[in-house]
Amino acid sequence: EAYRNASKHIAVMAFPFGTHAAPLLNLVRQLSDACPDALFSFLSTQQSNSSTFPTKLDKVKPFNVWDGLPEGYSFRGDPHEPVEYFLKAVPGNFTEVLEQAVAETGKPVDCLITDAFYAFGADIADELNVPWVALWTAGPRSLFVHANTDFIRQNVPDNGPQDKPLDFLLDFSGLRVVDLPDGITSGDFNATIPALLHKMGLALPRATAIAANSYEDLDNTVVNMLKSGFNNMYLNIGPFNLVPLSNAALDDSHSCLDWLSKREQASTVYISFGRVITPPPHELQALCEALEESEFPFIWSFRGNPDKQLPPGFQERTSSKGKIVPWAPQQKILEHPSVGVFVSHGGWNSVLESIVGGVPMILRPFFGDQGLNARTVEAVWGFGVGLEGGTLTKEGAMKALKVALCSEEGKKMKDRIGVQRELAYNAVKSDGSSVENFRTLLKIVSNGLTL
Ligand code: UDP
Repeated sequence: EAYRNASKHIAVMAFPFGTHAAPLLNLVRQLSDACPDALFSFLSTQQSNSSTFPTKLDKVKPFNVWDGLPEGYSFRGDPHEPVEYFLKAVPGNFTEVLEQAVAETGKPVDCLITDAFYAFGADIADELNVPWVALWTAGPRSLFVHANTDFIRQNVPDNGPQDKPLDFLLDFSGLRVVDLPDGITSGDFNATIPALLHKMGLALPRATAIAANSYEDLDNTVVNMLKSGFNNMYLNIGPFNLVPLSNAALDDSHSCLDWLSKREQASTVYISFGRVITPPPHELQALCEALEESEFPFIWSFRGNPDKQLPPGFQERTSSKGKIVPWAPQQKILEHPSVGVFVSHGGWNSVLESIVGGVPMILRPFFGDQGLNARTVEAVWGFGVGLEGGTLTKEGAMKALKVALCSEEGKKMKDRIGVQRELAYNAVKSDGSSVENFRTLLKIVSNGLTL
């Protein structure tokens, strides 16, 4: 019945892998709170919906789309495989269920919100003659390189030097070819993800608006270039980690915070390479040796089995100084005064959380946008230490830890990230830029405002 009285019907199409569907649902919930007479149909796979939807929501209804998996499929350990199958099923799996959502609600679609990955969002919105809003969950620089891939390819010679600066792009001279995501100038351009991102970059200028998880003052030059490429409708509405935290983000079942409270101010190293990555064995060994020899206290959120993957005896020898856990309340840890440095893979969420915590970083990027994020933190924003050769060695790690924790340069990094911290908080104040941008987004979604 609530459906029949709704004034608007907004369709949402999520990317059901990694950290994509959850921030999109969070955004939708905020829009729904601000626009209570609208109905949202949230389309994702059953697996994604069942893990993202906390409980039944009044005005946001989940619809399951086909995951594309062949009958009898069983997961064989390669995380790319389900993604490949899913992307073969789009957009047909979405449009089919969209029709169902329209039939069930009795309301045609007034606006389409999708993950920015979905270039086909532009075509569906055109066909329906409604605005298309895309959500980009990572940083402005990675979006910029995907939106300008053709131009970058023209300016980077085939098999040219990897350390060539990207100085043909404004404000990119601190970055090098090697920092670009795979599939921009190297690797297989036709592989699933590079092809998807290339198409995305070409389609996004057709979006009515692009919402992003960042804030206006972070990387302002790049943000302005994105705005001019995207009809001035590139809207930073983050950082999302300054909105109320999820249960997983607060999970401290291994008592990290209590342990931290016994350490000295800014003394402790926090180590995490995100939700999926474990560095290769020789780098784990090197990092362990560096930690053991330098004797800084540490908390390590470890993916895998530390008993099998860390050097024999390491955990016993460092038990008074170190704590290794399978999951940590990362943001809370980064906000804790005892933490002095974050050893990270440079995932976008980790970068934003480090900013909000005011903690300088040591960066060991692996794939995707991590290289770009890492180098930007280090060479453009100046609150991170890179590693010589880009990987963890004992000497390199020890040097980086000392720079971050006990040098003048480390203090400067802390000051610089402190400035960003302040700007991030300002952005989400009631008159802040992210809140302003959210209002613009709300107008588009609720009034069908077009350009
Ligand atoms: N995270 C956490 N506890 C952990 C490890 C990770 O809360 O022990 C969270 C972290 O706070 C961040 C996310 O997982 O929000 C990782 O996202 P990021 O973009 O940094 O990296 P990804 O996992 O996507 O590679």
